[in-house]
Amino acid sequence: MKAPNTLLANTGTTIFTVMSALAAEHGAVNLGQGFPDAEGPADVVRAAADALLDQRNQYPPMTGLPELREAVAAANWRFWGIEVEPATEVVVTSGATEAITASLMALLDPGDEVVLIEPLYDTYLPVVRMLGAVPRLVRLEPPRWELPRAALAAAFGPRTKALLMNSPQNPCAKVYTAAELAFIADLLQRHDAYAVCDEVYEHITFDGWRHIPLMSLPGLRERCLRIGSAGKTFSLTGWKVGYVTAPAVLASTIAKAHQLLTFTTPPNLQRAVAVGLAKPDSYFEGLARGLEAKRDRLSAGLARLGFGVLETRGSYFISADFRPLGFAGDDVAFCRWLTETAKVTAIPLSAFYADAATAPRHYARFAFCKHDTTLDLALARMEAAFAAWRGEGQRAGAAPRALTA
Ligand code: PMP
Ligand code: GLN
Repeated sequence: MKAPNTLLANTGTTIFTVMSALAAEHGAVNLGQGFPDAEGPADVVRAAADALLDQRNQYPPMTGLPELREAVAAANWRFWGIEVEPATEVVVTSGATEAITASLMALLDPGDEVVLIEPLYDTYLPVVRMLGAVPRLVRLEPPRWELPRAALAAAFGPRTKALLMNSPQNPCAKVYTAAELAFIADLLQRHDAYAVCDEVYEHITFDGWRHIPLMSLPGLRERCLRIGSAGKTFSLTGWKVGYVTAPAVLASTIAKAHQLLTFTTPPNLQRAVAVGLAKPDSYFEGLARGLEAKRDRLSAGLARLGFGVLETRGSYFISADFRPLGFAGDDVAFCRWLTETAKVTAIPLSAFYADAATAPRHYARFAFCKHDTTLDLALARMEAAFAAWRGEGQRAGAAPRALTA
């Protein structure tokens, strides 16, 4: 028998599915995959339920229901001052995941180069490669994750078609600064390149950090494809409703990709997301402040347990260095041990790198978009497991056994 597609056959199952399955197997508190354990806003859920019952369940328009496209355009203006024509500049997709793939499909020809910034979300690289494009990777370095300007500039060249960037960034919780964005804007203009901007955490920033869409910078309106996710903005990750805002000429090409991938997205969910996007500013502020309190709770708890906790400026995630605890193994070994022994699941940070061998191997990513009781239970379980682990070492008359892969 001939082999199936080589690239897909060689793509592993996503780390989020792997770790969630391991969490279920061991009855672990799942702080791995980034999904809230509470329902989203009741009025939005109710709108979706009601919308099922009024006989509009057939295919919606391909680029999205007019009411949602109008709501996306209005939100662009209300939050970011970006003027958008809803009929021609918005495409609704089945999640940001589809929006990312459709945007890359819309831009890339085989041989085009794409600049990507590590640590990166797990769908980016395989999709770029599937399209026959050439990834150019640039790395942010912990603990500050600042933009390495010289390396970024060096990654751009005559064949650069696009930059794919994510702010606020999963997993490192970085929010790009105005100065970093201005530097990126200059590179894009000098190299006549586009930017696919994954902004699914646009409303989730902390400590006075504010998200700035690259698209809102002078001269960048025509170069950016800006992606949002109702899953993140309304804490309803299973809904998979995403939206791309792009200049009309690109939006119509993204619509072609959407036509090939899914064609449309469930109409009742689209109608409910339109209701959500029209909620008052206080909803969006409340989302950020609620998650900020959870960020504080988990980061203080992890620091108390002895982790080296990195700063979290946005997103659902905290990265924590486990070496101060005395663990000498790598992040995959640590996350496996944590799931099996402490019964708490986190994601090894090296999963967000193209080459795990050269990636940082001493950080675990914890999701804090959970009930306080869930966070407290995870912390209590880790505290008990670390105490038992240290105790074992003492009984053996030695330092705690270093955990190795
Ligand atoms: N991009 C990033 C950075 C993410 O963290 C996620 C996570 N869920 C997605 C895209 C996908 O969003 P969606 O669930 O809307 O497909
Ligand atoms: N974005 C989520 C995360 O980073 C997971 C999404 C998924 O499981 N594909 O945890």
